[in-house]
Amino acid sequence: MGKMTIDGRLVEFTDEKNVLSVIRKAGIDIPTLCYVSELSTYGSCRLCTVEDERGKTFASCSEVPRDGMVIYTNTPRLRKYRKMILELLLAAHDRDCTTCVVSGSCHLLELAQRVGVNHVRFRNTRELQPLDDSSPSILRNPNKCILCGDCVRMCTDIQGINAIDFAYRGTDALVTPAFNRKLTETGCVGCGQCRIVCPTGAITVVSDIEPVMEALADPQTIVVAQIAPAVRLALGDKFGMPKGENVMGRIVSIMHRMGFDEIYDTTYGADLTVLEESKELLEHVSSGKGVPLFTSCCPAWVQHCEKKYPDLAKYISTCRSPMQMFGAVIREYFRDPEHNAGKKLVNVAIMPCTAKKGEILRPESRTRGIQDVDYVITTEELSSIIEQSGIVFDKVEIESADVPFGIGSGSGMIFGITGGVTEAVMRRLQRGHDRAAMRAITESGVRGMEG
Ligand code: SF4
Ligand code: SF4
Repeated sequence: MGKMTIDGRLVEFTDEKNVLSVIRKAGIDIPTLCYVSELSTYGSCRLCTVEDERGKTFASCSEVPRDGMVIYTNTPRLRKYRKMILELLLAAHDRDCTTCVVSGSCHLLELAQRVGVNHVRFRNTRELQPLDDSSPSILRNPNKCILCGDCVRMCTDIQGINAIDFAYRGTDALVTPAFNRKLTETGCVGCGQCRIVCPTGAITVVSDIEPVMEALADPQTIVVAQIAPAVRLALGDKFGMPKGENVMGRIVSIMHRMGFDEIYDTTYGADLTVLEESKELLEHVSSGKGVPLFTSCCPAWVQHCEKKYPDLAKYISTCRSPMQMFGAVIREYFRDPEHNAGKKLVNVAIMPCTAKKGEILRPESRTRGIQDVDYVITTEELSSIIEQSGIVFDKVEIESADVPFGIGSGSGMIFGITGGVTEAVMRRLQRGHDRAAMRAITESGVRGMEG
C-alpha cells in the first residue's frame, strides 16, 4: 500500500502489480502494445514509458509501484518518444491497411492515429516472409508481425502449448514455430488464442465466408446451418445487446433472410452426445476400461492430448462432438429426396472456436467417405457476414429455429460453459430426475472454473 503522484495528482495504490496498473486506475489510458494483464510482463514495446521527477524514463509495465513515486505520463518528451516507437514499428510492418482483414480493428493502426503518426520516414528493410497457411484455423503473416510477443506468451503461459517462439536476432528476428516449420508441424491445436491477443493482422482466422456465400447464391443448393449454444450470447455482445442476452431468435431471423434454408440448434446434437457419452461412461466403469472419461467435444483439447499425452488418449470419449454428431444427422436427413428436393446439401456449423475448422477435416468426421460438415463459420465471421448484409441486428423480428431439429434440453444448452458436459452427463445418470436431485448436481460445483 502507498501513494504516488501521477501528473500532479496523488493516487493511492494497494496490490497493483505494476505502475501501469496504478496509472490506469487513476483513469489515464496510457498506450500499450505488448502488455496483456493476464500474461507475463514482457516490456518490449516501451510505449508505456513514463518519466519521473528527475527525468528518468522507464517502462511502467515493468516497474513495481513504490510509495512516494512522482511520475509524468504525457510530457512532450514522452509524446515524441511514443510517436517514434510507432513510426519504427510501422516501418517494419507490411502496411497494406486498405485490404487487411483487421483494418477496422487493428490496435497498431489505432495507436498510430492516436499518437499522431501521419507519415513514416523509414524504409522497410525486412525480407519478405512467406505466409503460413498450413493450418485450417489460423493464418500467419509474418510480414505484419511487430514482435510484441503477445502470441508467444499466450501460447506458452496460458495455453501451455509452446507452438511459436522468437527466432533469430536483430532485424532478422521472427516469431515462428521452431526451425521455421509450418504451424501444422508443431503442437498447435488451432485454438486461436494467439489471434485474440495479436494487435495486428499477423495472425488471423482462416475465412470460410466466401464458399458459404456462394452456396447461398446457388439455387441448386440447400444450405443448412446449426448454431452452437455459446454463439447466441457472444454475438449479442458484438452488436451491443445487453450482456448475457440470448439473441438466438434474431440470428435465426437474419440467417433466414440471408438465404439459409434450414437453421437448427446444436443443443440438439449436444443432447445426442449426452446420451452416448453417459452410456460410454457406464461401460468404462463396468468393463474395467477405467476412468476418467474425457470429453471429446473440444477438438483443441483432443489434439493436445493426442500430441502431448498420447498415453491418456484412450480415456478420451469415442463419441463425436455435438457438432459432428449433428452434422452426420443433418447429412443423413437430407440424403432423402423428400427432404433435399433434388438439390445438393451444404452443411454449415456456426461455432465459437477456430479449432472446429480443423475438426471437420479429421478422418472420423466423415460418413461413407463424405465429410459431414462442409464449413465452420466462427462467431466473428458470422458477425461480419451480418454486417455485410446490411440487415440491422436489433430491428429484425425474432424467429424460432427450424423443426425437426430446432429443440434441445437444458443439459444440452450448458455444453457452452466450463464443466457443462460433466454436469449434463451426471444429470442423465442420476436415478431420480426430480427437482431436488437436479439442483443437488447443479450445486455440487462441477460447473464453472473453481476446482
Ligand atoms: S492456435 Fe493456439 S496452439 Fe496454435 S499457436 Fe495459436 S495459441 Fe498456440
Ligand atoms: S504475431 Fe501478432 S501477437 Fe505475435 S508477436 Fe507478431 S504482432 Fe505480436
